[in-house]
Amino acid sequence: MRGFPLLRASSGAPVLFLAAATVALGTAPRVACAADDRPPNVVLVVIDTLRSDHLGCYGYERGTSPFIDELAAEGVLFEHCYSAASWTFPACMSILSGLLPIVHGCECGTERLSEAIVTLPQYLARQGYYCAGVVSNPHLDRAFGFARGFHDYDDRTAFVQASAGLFRADAAPTHEQVNDIVTGNVVTQRAVSLLGNAVKRDQPFFLFVLYFDPHDSYVPPARYVERFDKGYDGPMDGTNVAALRGRPPAKRDLEHLVARYDGEIAYVDDQLRRLVEAVDRVARDETITIVVSDHGEAFGEHGHMLHGNGVHREEMWTPMIWRAPGRIASGRRVREPVSNLDVLATLAEMVPIRNPRPYQGRSLAPALRGDPLAPAPVLGLRSRPAVATMRHVVVADDRFRLHARFEHSPLAEGAVNQLFDIAKDPWERNPIVDRHQTSALRMRRALDETWRASARLYEQYQSEAPTTAARPDKVARRHIESVGYMAGRLPGRCGG
Ligand SMILES: [Zn+2]
Repeated sequence: MRGFPLLRASSGAPVLFLAAATVALGTAPRVACAADDRPPNVVLVVIDTLRSDHLGCYGYERGTSPFIDELAAEGVLFEHCYSAASWTFPACMSILSGLLPIVHGCECGTERLSEAIVTLPQYLARQGYYCAGVVSNPHLDRAFGFARGFHDYDDRTAFVQASAGLFRADAAPTHEQVNDIVTGNVVTQRAVSLLGNAVKRDQPFFLFVLYFDPHDSYVPPARYVERFDKGYDGPMDGTNVAALRGRPPAKRDLEHLVARYDGEIAYVDDQLRRLVEAVDRVARDETITIVVSDHGEAFGEHGHMLHGNGVHREEMWTPMIWRAPGRIASGRRVREPVSNLDVLATLAEMVPIRNPRPYQGRSLAPALRGDPLAPAPVLGLRSRPAVATMRHVVVADDRFRLHARFEHSPLAEGAVNQLFDIAKDPWERNPIVDRHQTSALRMRRALDETWRASARLYEQYQSEAPTTAARPDKVARRHIESVGYMAGRLPGRCGG
């Protein structure tokens, strides 16, 4: 069965496949030829904590992302991709499961994914893919179910190696030690090593890579800081953001933190270039490369820093770029709002995935082919420990974003709503409540329908296999806590 109707560079031409070889940076081999019906390789890159508006291809003028900009020029960029959640744990589970956090149930940072839910690597493994992953956010530990379907899943090397100096010391870590927490280079090395495993096999591969660096602390290698803010001599060294207790610092200090964040993005952009060039050397024309993020980052736009604190645009607006030479359009930009959980639905059509279990999101394949994408509202949540009983949800269409707060269900109680017209007020500073009632009602209906359908789907999966408490080991727990997340509480309610 043929997969996604492709834009073929030369109809009937043989598709390249991977010959057994060892891949090392700079020494990757070319590949041999195979049958035409081989499904495409998939490289899915999540750059943690990456807000769209700090990338050149989304209009930023600081030169943070020359390589991501190249990828976008060669493929399809979604101008308005919103995350399913505003922090890592639920958002990454949504990307891999194609389900909203209220359906997959991993919202507190403590849950192990229901065994009834099938993730993207599980689907692909069933269909003959070799699946490998490397992550450097410790919250993507295998204890939570993130490793399901992967033949090789490295959730440990990057963070353990980078932070070894910190966790051996009894005393507080030094500034120099903290500065060593640069994981991107290790992630790239491990990813290329796993790519080497892939080329030894005569099968398509799925490579999942999560770069953690833009997440606080903002401590890229020094030259990446100097690129964006050379003369700063104030107190902000990028390691002490949490000490601000969520409040933005003075203007000059804030500028420096933004420069450090931009330095992290530039650093990861260089790492991504190394990774994609390694893939290109072995399978450029047989690979779909996808770059997304799990959430954005706040720099005081609404009075707070970091992420996971709300659903405003700075925390939810994430990049989405697809590149697949000869298979999808190139240089195309799509305005319709989409979600990062649409990745699974889109690959379900492109690969295609056979007999999938129920998932959410929608296929973006029409847009990748160059066809119009029908308008559809996109829903995202603030899922967060200690506040899970008060829902904070956003629904976005191509013009408006409706924020809603409610205790349990928008259906059973009056949600508190705020509507923003992002065409006129892109950073959601002035809610409109009177003049656009029609739009508000339309989006409330979209929220109600999605919520109702999600509740049914959650119950269906829970009735088959309930979510359980994850049991991360000591090392994982220590690392998770070190990056500001809690572990070890009971699932269901986040407590606090
Ligand atoms: Zn994250």
